[in-house]
Amino acid sequence: MKSITRRGFIQHSALAAGAALASSRLQAATAAPSASAGSLHIAPFRFDVTPPIGHACCGGWIKPVIDYDDPLEAIGFVLLGSGPPIVICAVDWTGILNEAHLAWRVALAEAAGTSPDRVTVHCVHQHNAPFVCFDAARLAREEKDLPEIYDVDFHRRCLDAARAAVALAIKSARPVSHVAHGSGRVDEVASNRRLARDANGRVTKMRGSSSKDPELIALPEGLIDPLLRTVAFYDRGTKVVAAHYYATHPMSYYGDGRVSSDFCGLARKRLQAAEPACTHLYFTGCAGDIGAGKYNDGSKPARAWLTDRMARGMVAAAAVLKPEPIATLEWRTQEIRPMPNPALLTGALRELMQKQPTALVSRLRPAFKLASVRRWKRQDPFLLSALHLNETVLLHLPAEPFVAYQLAAQAMRAGRPVAVAAYGDNGPWYIPTKTEFAGGGYEVDHAFCAPGTEDLILSAMQRLLA
Ligand SMILES: [Zn+2]
Repeated sequence: MKSITRRGFIQHSALAAGAALASSRLQAATAAPSASAGSLHIAPFRFDVTPPIGHACCGGWIKPVIDYDDPLEAIGFVLLGSGPPIVICAVDWTGILNEAHLAWRVALAEAAGTSPDRVTVHCVHQHNAPFVCFDAARLAREEKDLPEIYDVDFHRRCLDAARAAVALAIKSARPVSHVAHGSGRVDEVASNRRLARDANGRVTKMRGSSSKDPELIALPEGLIDPLLRTVAFYDRGTKVVAAHYYATHPMSYYGDGRVSSDFCGLARKRLQAAEPACTHLYFTGCAGDIGAGKYNDGSKPARAWLTDRMARGMVAAAAVLKPEPIATLEWRTQEIRPMPNPALLTGALRELMQKQPTALVSRLRPAFKLASVRRWKRQDPFLLSALHLNETVLLHLPAEPFVAYQLAAQAMRAGRPVAVAAYGDNGPWYIPTKTEFAGGGYEVDHAFCAPGTEDLILSAMQRLLA
């Protein structure tokens, strides 16, 4: 029953894609002209975004930073020579939300000499890491006893580092002539978090990122996307940038105050060490309902084995890369303005922030919800974008969509590669499908936008992908 519903969602998406084609030509007004291949250059950049000792992790409701297992990085690239520059960036943080996300896009745009609508910024979503929302922090400061959600000075220094890294990278941009796509299976990492259900289809227990519950471990993987996708850029025969995409929550264990890029970041770092001349990036796909819970007991060795499995997927994808000359390049954008989840009531959220004694999470999470409500009222749009490179598309989505969105995007371009980076502007937190709203559970309780958001995202995707 559940799988039929999901399949229906994906089939509907594929059918609707054709119908949307005609209108997309009119509405994709922001599309840039195609590249003239000879002029195209790429400028990879990276900078450190490791928070200082004492910095809040995951918005302030888990243990703050006490030490470091490995540093956090922001890694990206600028594409030059096809209209105004395009900037694509992945950050080893839990999330960057609302005005903070715009601040990142503006900083990167200024440094690259482009406009913020040609910049996309995504978080990998590790949890022993910063989670930045200016407005939630403002709201929390009004309650004198709540901790800082993020360190304002540290954040400012990160944006300074972003500007400096991009400006420096552009000076040594190199030609980019070819692009390649490859995919590799990742075994025994991803599993659906929402399989434990009652007779009415309501989620009873979340499998989460780790689990010791035999009942949850025994459940099947459920709906996932098993393929890791890699899109690589070449300067003739030399691989210059490799961007990897996979849909899973990236946490093995967290809450111990030890900063780490965790198993997805560690796999990326392994590839980076093996190929120092190529810049490796990692993007988390539509992982709202996906975690490693079936295969992860949350132990220290688990981080190592999950890293091995991710790295194997990256190596498998790299093995089938077949570079082809870049003939066409197009950047498309779509704005959406979701409505708030009717369950978010402003008055009640304020009360929850003030309620004592209670766990910090129960007081700080409402600050993020209230920030979202205030954003919906301002009608600040979310920007979705797509970079078309020949037949390959890099699709950029906000927040934590369920994996069905990623599968729908692929169905819209059957047989042609779509690599999906989610966790852009994380303002809305979880984005379930309409049917999954009815199933309830953790993700639905923390979905800040209304069920109708599915329609907005699907039609925006159709225009971006057509
Ligand atoms: Zn999450």
